[in-house]
Amino acid sequence: MSFTSLKLIDPVMEALTAEGYIYPTPIQIQAIPHVLSGRDLQGCAQTGTGKTAAFAIPIIQLLHKQNKAKTGIKALVLTPTRELAIQIGESFATYGKFTGIRYTTVYGGVSQLPQTKALKRGVDVLVATPGRLLDLINQGYIRLNQLEIFVLDEADRMLDMGFINDIRKVIRLLPDRRQTLFFSATMPNEIQKLASDLLKNPVKVEVTPPASTVDSIEQSIYHTSKPDKPKMLLHLLREQNISTALVFTRTKHGADKVVKFLHRADVKAAAIHGNKSQNARQSALNDFKRGRLKVLVATDIAARGIDIDELSHVFNYDLPNVPETYVHRIGRTGRAGLNGTAIAFCDADERKELRDIEKLILKRIPVVENHPYACNPVAQLKKVIKSRDHRYRRQFN
Ligand code: AMP
Repeated sequence: MSFTSLKLIDPVMEALTAEGYIYPTPIQIQAIPHVLSGRDLQGCAQTGTGKTAAFAIPIIQLLHKQNKAKTGIKALVLTPTRELAIQIGESFATYGKFTGIRYTTVYGGVSQLPQTKALKRGVDVLVATPGRLLDLINQGYIRLNQLEIFVLDEADRMLDMGFINDIRKVIRLLPDRRQTLFFSATMPNEIQKLASDLLKNPVKVEVTPPASTVDSIEQSIYHTSKPDKPKMLLHLLREQNISTALVFTRTKHGADKVVKFLHRADVKAAAIHGNKSQNARQSALNDFKRGRLKVLVATDIAARGIDIDELSHVFNYDLPNVPETYVHRIGRTGRAGLNGTAIAFCDADERKELRDIEKLILKRIPVVENHPYACNPVAQLKKVIKSRDHRYRRQFN
Protein backbone atom coordinates (compact mmCIF):
# COMPACT_ATOMS: atom_id res chain seq x y z
CA MET A 1 0.00 0.00 0.00
CA SER A 2 1.27 3.47 -0.82
CA PHE A 3 0.60 6.79 0.90
CA THR A 4 -1.69 7.72 -2.02
CA SER A 5 -4.33 5.24 -0.86
CA LEU A 6 -4.50 7.02 2.51
CA LYS A 7 -6.11 10.03 0.80
CA LEU A 8 -3.60 12.56 2.06
CA ILE A 9 -3.70 16.15 0.89
CA ASP A 10 -1.09 17.41 -1.58
CA PRO A 11 1.00 19.51 0.84
CA VAL A 12 1.42 16.49 3.13
CA MET A 13 2.19 14.14 0.23
CA GLU A 14 4.78 16.61 -1.01
CA ALA A 15 6.47 16.68 2.40
CA LEU A 16 6.53 12.88 2.63
CA THR A 17 8.04 12.60 -0.83
CA ALA A 18 10.68 15.18 0.08
CA GLU A 19 11.46 13.06 3.15
CA GLY A 20 11.90 9.97 0.96
CA TYR A 21 8.98 8.06 2.51
CA ILE A 22 7.55 5.58 0.04
CA TYR A 23 5.32 3.24 1.99
CA PRO A 24 3.34 3.81 5.18
CA THR A 25 4.26 1.57 8.12
CA PRO A 26 1.65 -0.88 9.50
CA ILE A 27 0.62 1.49 12.29
CA GLN A 28 0.26 4.32 9.80
CA ILE A 29 -1.91 2.16 7.54
CA GLN A 30 -4.10 1.18 10.47
CA ALA A 31 -4.30 4.50 12.30
CA ILE A 32 -4.35 7.31 9.73
CA PRO A 33 -7.79 6.64 8.14
CA HIS A 34 -9.46 6.38 11.57
CA VAL A 35 -7.82 9.52 12.93
CA LEU A 36 -8.85 11.36 9.77
CA SER A 37 -12.44 10.22 10.30
CA GLY A 38 -12.41 11.69 13.82
CA ARG A 39 -12.29 8.46 15.84
CA ASP A 40 -10.48 8.06 19.18
CA LEU A 41 -7.56 5.67 19.00
CA GLN A 42 -5.74 3.33 21.35
CA GLY A 43 -2.38 2.40 19.85
CA CYS A 44 -0.11 -0.22 21.32
CA ALA A 45 3.21 0.57 19.63
CA GLN A 46 6.82 1.31 20.42
CA THR A 47 9.07 3.97 18.98
CA GLY A 48 10.60 2.80 15.74
CA THR A 49 7.23 1.72 14.34
CA GLY A 50 6.49 5.11 12.76
CA LYS A 51 3.89 5.97 15.40
CA THR A 52 4.76 9.69 15.49
CA ALA A 53 3.86 10.08 11.83
CA ALA A 54 0.78 7.92 12.46
CA PHE A 55 -0.67 10.71 14.61
CA ALA A 56 1.19 13.79 13.28
CA ILE A 57 0.19 13.32 9.61
CA PRO A 58 -3.60 13.10 10.17
CA ILE A 59 -3.52 15.91 12.76
CA ILE A 60 -1.78 18.19 10.25
CA GLN A 61 -4.32 17.24 7.59
CA LEU A 62 -7.33 17.81 9.88
CA LEU A 63 -6.04 21.20 11.01
CA HIS A 64 -5.09 22.26 7.50
CA LYS A 65 -8.66 21.77 6.32
CA GLN A 66 -10.01 24.04 9.07
CA ASN A 67 -10.88 27.66 9.07
CA LYS A 68 -7.53 29.44 9.45
CA ALA A 69 -9.11 32.36 11.35
CA LYS A 70 -9.67 30.16 14.43
CA THR A 71 -7.02 30.92 17.02
CA GLY A 72 -5.82 28.96 20.05
CA ILE A 73 -4.07 25.65 20.57
CA LYS A 74 -5.98 23.00 18.64
CA ALA A 75 -3.83 19.95 19.24
CA LEU A 76 -1.77 18.99 22.28
CA VAL A 77 0.77 16.17 22.32
CA LEU A 78 1.88 15.16 25.80
CA THR A 79 5.08 13.13 25.95
CA PRO A 80 7.34 12.12 28.87
CA THR A 81 10.78 13.43 27.94
CA ARG A 82 12.43 16.47 26.44
CA GLU A 83 14.13 14.34 23.74
CA LEU A 84 10.82 12.89 22.65
CA ALA A 85 9.19 16.33 22.69
CA ILE A 86 11.92 17.71 20.42
CA GLN A 87 11.65 14.74 18.05
CA ILE A 88 7.87 15.00 17.83
CA GLY A 89 8.14 18.76 17.24
CA GLU A 90 10.57 18.06 14.39
CA SER A 91 8.12 15.58 12.91
CA PHE A 92 5.37 18.23 12.84
CA ALA A 93 7.83 20.65 11.24
CA THR A 94 8.79 18.07 8.60
CA TYR A 95 5.36 16.71 7.65
CA GLY A 96 3.66 20.09 7.96
CA LYS A 97 6.22 22.26 6.19
CA PHE A 98 3.96 22.98 3.20
CA THR A 99 0.82 23.59 5.24
CA GLY A 100 1.59 26.67 7.33
CA ILE A 101 0.59 24.82 10.54
CA ARG A 102 2.28 26.47 13.50
CA TYR A 103 3.71 24.29 16.22
CA THR A 104 5.90 24.77 19.26
CA THR A 105 7.53 22.61 21.89
CA VAL A 106 7.67 23.22 25.65
CA TYR A 107 9.72 21.20 28.12
CA GLY A 108 11.51 21.76 31.39
CA GLY A 109 15.16 22.24 32.27
CA VAL A 110 15.61 25.27 30.00
CA SER A 111 14.58 28.92 30.11
CA GLN A 112 10.89 29.38 29.47
CA LEU A 113 11.31 32.73 27.68
CA PRO A 114 11.70 31.44 24.08
CA GLN A 115 8.77 29.11 24.76
CA THR A 116 6.45 31.86 26.04
CA LYS A 117 7.45 34.08 23.10
CA ALA A 118 6.49 31.34 20.65
CA LEU A 119 3.21 30.78 22.48
CA LYS A 120 2.37 34.49 22.26
CA ARG A 121 2.91 34.42 18.49
CA GLY A 122 0.23 31.73 18.35
CA VAL A 123 0.44 27.99 17.79
CA ASP A 124 -1.87 25.33 16.37
CA VAL A 125 -0.02 22.33 17.75
CA LEU A 126 1.71 22.22 21.12
CA VAL A 127 4.11 19.41 22.03
CA ALA A 128 4.81 19.35 25.76
CA THR A 129 6.18 17.46 28.73
CA PRO A 130 3.74 17.44 31.68
CA GLY A 131 5.67 19.53 34.27
CA ARG A 132 6.47 22.54 32.08
CA LEU A 133 3.01 22.41 30.53
CA LEU A 134 1.31 22.74 33.93
CA ASP A 135 3.77 25.49 34.91
CA LEU A 136 2.92 27.55 31.84
CA ILE A 137 -0.80 26.90 32.26
CA ASN A 138 -0.58 28.14 35.88
CA GLN A 139 1.24 31.27 34.73
CA GLY A 140 -1.51 31.94 32.18
CA TYR A 141 0.56 31.45 29.03
CA ILE A 142 -1.37 28.41 27.86
CA ARG A 143 -5.14 27.92 27.56
CA LEU A 144 -6.54 24.64 26.35
CA ASN A 145 -10.20 25.62 25.95
CA GLN A 146 -10.00 25.56 22.11
CA LEU A 147 -8.40 22.13 22.06
CA GLU A 148 -9.78 19.61 19.57
CA ILE A 149 -7.21 16.81 19.54
CA PHE A 150 -5.27 15.41 22.50
CA VAL A 151 -2.43 12.92 22.08
CA LEU A 152 -1.02 11.04 25.04
CA ASP A 153 2.27 9.53 23.92
CA GLU A 154 4.22 6.77 25.71
CA ALA A 155 1.63 6.44 28.45
CA ASP A 156 3.41 3.54 30.18
CA ARG A 157 6.63 5.54 30.41
CA MET A 158 4.69 8.48 31.82
CA LEU A 159 3.45 6.19 34.55
CA ASP A 160 6.96 4.87 35.24
CA MET A 161 8.27 8.40 35.55
CA GLY A 162 5.60 9.32 38.10
CA PHE A 163 3.62 11.68 35.85
CA ILE A 164 0.21 10.12 36.40
CA ASN A 165 -1.09 12.92 38.67
CA ASP A 166 0.17 15.61 36.32
CA ILE A 167 -1.57 13.86 33.44
CA ARG A 168 -4.83 13.68 35.33
CA LYS A 169 -4.51 17.42 36.12
CA VAL A 170 -4.00 18.22 32.42
CA ILE A 171 -6.94 16.03 31.40
CA ARG A 172 -9.27 17.95 33.73
CA LEU A 173 -8.43 21.11 31.80
CA LEU A 174 -9.36 19.70 28.39
CA PRO A 175 -12.73 20.26 26.71
CA ASP A 176 -14.97 17.18 26.90
CA ARG A 177 -15.69 17.32 23.20
CA ARG A 178 -12.37 16.34 21.69
CA GLN A 179 -10.61 13.56 19.82
CA THR A 180 -8.11 11.56 21.89
CA LEU A 181 -5.23 9.45 20.63
CA PHE A 182 -3.54 7.25 23.20
CA PHE A 183 -0.21 5.49 22.64
CA SER A 184 1.64 3.08 24.86
CA ALA A 185 4.24 0.39 24.21
CA THR A 186 2.67 -1.88 26.83
CA MET A 187 -0.82 -2.04 28.29
CA PRO A 188 -0.64 -2.97 31.99
CA ASN A 189 -3.91 -2.69 33.98
CA GLU A 190 -3.29 0.83 35.22
CA ILE A 191 -2.64 2.07 31.69
CA GLN A 192 -5.71 0.25 30.37
CA LYS A 193 -7.77 1.96 33.10
CA LEU A 194 -6.40 5.38 32.09
CA ALA A 195 -7.17 4.61 28.45
CA SER A 196 -10.73 3.58 29.29
CA ASP A 197 -11.26 6.83 31.25
CA LEU A 198 -9.93 8.94 28.39
CA LEU A 199 -11.20 7.33 25.21
CA LYS A 200 -14.69 7.12 23.72
CA ASN A 201 -15.34 4.07 21.59
CA PRO A 202 -11.72 3.92 20.40
CA VAL A 203 -10.30 2.03 17.46
CA LYS A 204 -7.58 -0.26 18.79
CA VAL A 205 -4.40 -0.82 16.82
CA GLU A 206 -1.42 -2.88 17.82
CA VAL A 207 1.87 -3.38 16.04
CA THR A 208 5.13 -5.10 16.79
CA PRO A 209 8.43 -3.34 16.07
CA PRO A 210 9.57 -3.83 12.49
CA ALA A 211 12.54 -5.91 11.52
CA SER A 212 15.30 -3.40 11.37
CA THR A 213 18.65 -3.23 9.74
CA VAL A 214 21.59 -2.01 11.77
CA ASP A 215 22.97 1.36 10.73
CA SER A 216 26.56 0.11 10.95
CA ILE A 217 25.87 -2.14 7.95
CA GLU A 218 26.48 -0.41 4.64
CA GLN A 219 23.99 -1.75 2.15
CA SER A 220 24.05 -1.54 -1.63
CA ILE A 221 22.34 -3.08 -4.59
CA TYR A 222 23.76 -4.00 -8.00
CA HIS A 223 21.30 -4.48 -10.85
CA THR A 224 22.69 -7.16 -13.10
CA SER A 225 21.54 -10.10 -15.21
CA LYS A 226 21.34 -13.67 -13.93
CA PRO A 227 24.16 -15.00 -16.18
CA ASP A 228 26.46 -12.14 -15.11
CA LYS A 229 26.10 -12.75 -11.37
CA PRO A 230 29.17 -15.06 -11.01
CA LYS A 231 31.40 -12.53 -12.82
CA MET A 232 29.90 -9.72 -10.80
CA LEU A 233 30.78 -11.53 -7.57
CA LEU A 234 34.33 -12.24 -8.67
CA HIS A 235 34.77 -8.66 -9.81
CA LEU A 236 33.70 -7.27 -6.43
CA LEU A 237 35.79 -9.77 -4.44
CA ARG A 238 38.84 -8.59 -6.38
CA GLU A 239 38.04 -4.90 -6.74
CA GLN A 240 37.18 -4.40 -3.07
CA ASN A 241 39.88 -6.74 -1.85
CA ILE A 242 37.38 -8.62 0.27
CA SER A 243 38.89 -11.03 2.77
CA THR A 244 35.79 -12.83 4.09
CA ALA A 245 32.42 -13.10 2.44
CA LEU A 246 29.31 -15.08 3.20
CA VAL A 247 27.33 -15.51 0.00
CA PHE A 248 23.67 -16.50 0.05
CA THR A 249 22.11 -18.33 -2.86
CA ARG A 250 18.51 -19.48 -3.17
CA THR A 251 19.28 -23.12 -4.08
CA LYS A 252 21.83 -25.81 -3.24
CA HIS A 253 22.57 -26.25 -6.91
CA GLY A 254 23.14 -22.49 -7.22
CA ALA A 255 25.57 -22.59 -4.29
CA ASP A 256 27.60 -25.39 -5.92
CA LYS A 257 27.73 -23.53 -9.24
CA VAL A 258 29.09 -20.38 -7.56
CA VAL A 259 31.78 -22.40 -5.78
CA LYS A 260 32.84 -24.10 -9.02
CA PHE A 261 33.11 -20.75 -10.75
CA LEU A 262 35.20 -19.29 -7.91
CA HIS A 263 37.50 -22.33 -7.89
CA ARG A 264 38.18 -21.85 -11.59
CA ALA A 265 39.21 -18.28 -10.77
CA ASP A 266 41.46 -19.52 -7.96
CA VAL A 267 39.36 -18.17 -5.14
CA LYS A 268 39.22 -20.41 -2.08
CA ALA A 269 35.55 -21.14 -1.51
CA ALA A 270 33.22 -23.84 -0.22
CA ALA A 271 29.50 -24.43 -0.10
CA ILE A 272 27.39 -25.46 2.85
CA HIS A 273 23.91 -26.75 2.26
CA GLY A 274 21.60 -29.61 3.07
CA ASN A 275 23.16 -32.04 0.57
CA LYS A 276 26.55 -31.86 2.30
CA SER A 277 27.33 -34.12 5.24
CA GLN A 278 27.50 -32.64 8.70
CA ASN A 279 31.29 -33.22 8.65
CA ALA A 280 31.77 -31.49 5.33
CA ARG A 281 29.74 -28.53 6.56
CA GLN A 282 31.62 -28.30 9.82
CA SER A 283 35.02 -28.46 8.16
CA ALA A 284 34.01 -25.80 5.60
CA LEU A 285 32.86 -23.57 8.44
CA ASN A 286 36.06 -24.11 10.42
CA ASP A 287 38.18 -23.35 7.38
CA PHE A 288 36.22 -20.20 6.81
CA LYS A 289 36.54 -19.07 10.42
CA ARG A 290 40.31 -19.70 10.39
CA GLY A 291 40.75 -17.70 7.20
CA ARG A 292 41.64 -20.69 5.01
CA LEU A 293 38.60 -19.96 2.87
CA LYS A 294 37.75 -16.55 1.49
CA VAL A 295 34.16 -17.30 0.55
CA LEU A 296 31.48 -19.43 2.10
CA VAL A 297 28.44 -19.97 -0.09
CA ALA A 298 25.33 -20.97 1.81
CA THR A 299 21.62 -21.52 1.57
CA ASP A 300 19.52 -20.03 4.34
CA ILE A 301 18.74 -23.28 6.11
CA ALA A 302 22.35 -24.42 6.19
CA ALA A 303 23.51 -21.04 7.43
CA ARG A 304 21.04 -20.94 10.30
CA GLY A 305 22.78 -20.51 13.61
CA ILE A 306 26.18 -19.86 12.07
CA ASP A 307 27.92 -17.19 14.04
CA ILE A 308 31.05 -15.77 12.50
CA ASP A 309 32.90 -12.98 14.25
CA GLU A 310 34.39 -10.24 12.17
CA LEU A 311 32.58 -11.15 8.97
CA SER A 312 33.11 -8.14 6.74
CA HIS A 313 30.82 -8.89 3.78
CA VAL A 314 27.49 -10.57 3.18
CA PHE A 315 26.29 -11.08 -0.40
CA ASN A 316 22.67 -11.59 -1.30
CA TYR A 317 23.65 -13.31 -4.53
CA ASP A 318 19.97 -14.11 -5.00
CA LEU A 319 17.34 -12.03 -3.25
CA PRO A 320 15.20 -14.02 -0.83
CA ASN A 321 11.44 -14.43 -1.40
CA VAL A 322 10.73 -13.68 2.25
CA PRO A 323 11.88 -10.12 3.00
CA GLU A 324 12.68 -10.85 6.68
CA THR A 325 15.33 -13.30 5.43
CA TYR A 326 17.24 -10.38 3.93
CA VAL A 327 17.41 -8.73 7.37
CA HIS A 328 18.60 -11.99 8.99
CA ARG A 329 21.21 -12.55 6.28
CA ILE A 330 22.79 -9.13 6.47
CA GLY A 331 22.68 -9.24 10.27
CA ARG A 332 25.56 -11.74 10.05
CA THR A 333 27.86 -8.82 9.46
CA GLY A 334 28.21 -5.57 11.40
CA ARG A 335 28.24 -7.42 14.71
CA ALA A 336 29.62 -6.22 18.04
CA GLY A 337 29.98 -2.66 16.88
CA LEU A 338 32.09 -3.58 13.84
CA ASN A 339 31.21 -2.19 10.44
CA GLY A 340 29.81 -4.51 7.84
CA THR A 341 28.99 -4.41 4.17
CA ALA A 342 25.93 -6.02 2.63
CA ILE A 343 25.83 -6.28 -1.14
CA ALA A 344 22.82 -7.55 -3.02
CA PHE A 345 22.43 -8.53 -6.67
CA CYS A 346 19.09 -7.98 -8.31
CA ASP A 347 18.24 -9.42 -11.72
CA ALA A 348 15.19 -8.59 -13.83
CA ASP A 349 13.08 -11.30 -12.14
CA GLU A 350 13.89 -10.12 -8.62
CA ARG A 351 12.49 -6.58 -8.64
CA LYS A 352 9.43 -7.57 -6.63
CA GLU A 353 11.63 -9.14 -3.94
CA LEU A 354 13.65 -5.92 -3.80
CA ARG A 355 10.51 -3.79 -3.41
CA ASP A 356 9.26 -6.05 -0.60
CA ILE A 357 12.58 -5.79 1.23
CA GLU A 358 12.61 -2.00 0.96
CA LYS A 359 9.03 -1.92 2.21
CA LEU A 360 10.03 -3.95 5.25
CA ILE A 361 13.19 -2.04 6.18
CA LEU A 362 11.56 1.32 5.34
CA LYS A 363 14.39 2.54 3.22
CA ARG A 364 15.71 2.43 -0.29
CA ILE A 365 18.93 0.46 -0.63
CA PRO A 366 21.43 2.63 -2.54
CA VAL A 367 21.98 1.39 -6.09
CA VAL A 368 25.52 1.19 -7.48
CA GLU A 369 25.21 2.04 -11.15
CA ASN A 370 28.76 2.20 -12.36
CA HIS A 371 29.97 -1.36 -12.72
CA PRO A 372 30.95 -3.58 -15.64
CA TYR A 373 27.88 -5.86 -15.42
CA ALA A 374 25.26 -3.18 -15.03
CA CYS A 375 21.81 -3.87 -16.26
CA ASN A 376 19.73 -0.74 -16.11
CA PRO A 377 16.05 -1.72 -16.00
CA VAL A 378 14.87 1.39 -17.88
CA ALA A 379 17.60 1.14 -20.54
CA GLN A 380 16.75 -2.52 -21.01
CA LEU A 381 13.09 -1.76 -21.54
CA LYS A 382 13.95 0.98 -24.04
CA LYS A 383 16.14 -1.49 -25.93
CA VAL A 384 13.26 -3.98 -26.20
CA ILE A 385 10.86 -1.28 -27.37
CA LYS A 386 13.39 0.01 -29.89
CA SER A 387 14.02 -3.41 -31.39
CA ARG A 388 10.26 -4.07 -31.63
CA ASP A 389 9.78 -0.68 -33.23
CA HIS A 390 12.54 -1.48 -35.73
CA ARG A 391 10.99 -4.83 -36.66
CA TYR A 392 7.59 -3.17 -37.06
CA ARG A 393 8.98 -0.52 -39.42
CA ARG A 394 10.79 -3.13 -41.50
CA GLN A 395 7.58 -5.07 -41.86
CA PHE A 396 5.33 -2.21 -42.85
CA ASN A 397 7.52 0.33 -44.65
P1 AMP B 1 8.86 6.67 15.37
O1 AMP B 1 8.33 5.28 15.62
O2 AMP B 1 7.76 7.64 15.24
O3 AMP B 1 9.88 7.05 16.38
O4 AMP B 1 9.58 6.66 13.94
C1 AMP B 1 10.75 5.95 13.68
C2 AMP B 1 11.51 6.47 12.46
O5 AMP B 1 10.89 6.04 11.26
C3 AMP B 1 11.62 7.97 12.37
O6 AMP B 1 12.97 8.28 12.09
C4 AMP B 1 10.76 8.35 11.19
O7 AMP B 1 11.30 9.46 10.50
C5 AMP B 1 10.80 7.13 10.33
N1 AMP B 1 9.56 6.88 9.58
C6 AMP B 1 8.30 6.98 10.03
N2 AMP B 1 7.41 6.63 9.07
C7 AMP B 1 8.13 6.29 7.98
C8 AMP B 1 7.78 5.83 6.67
N3 AMP B 1 6.53 5.64 6.30
N4 AMP B 1 8.78 5.60 5.81
C9 AMP B 1 10.07 5.78 6.18
N5 AMP B 1 10.47 6.20 7.41
C10 AMP B 1 9.51 6.45 8.30
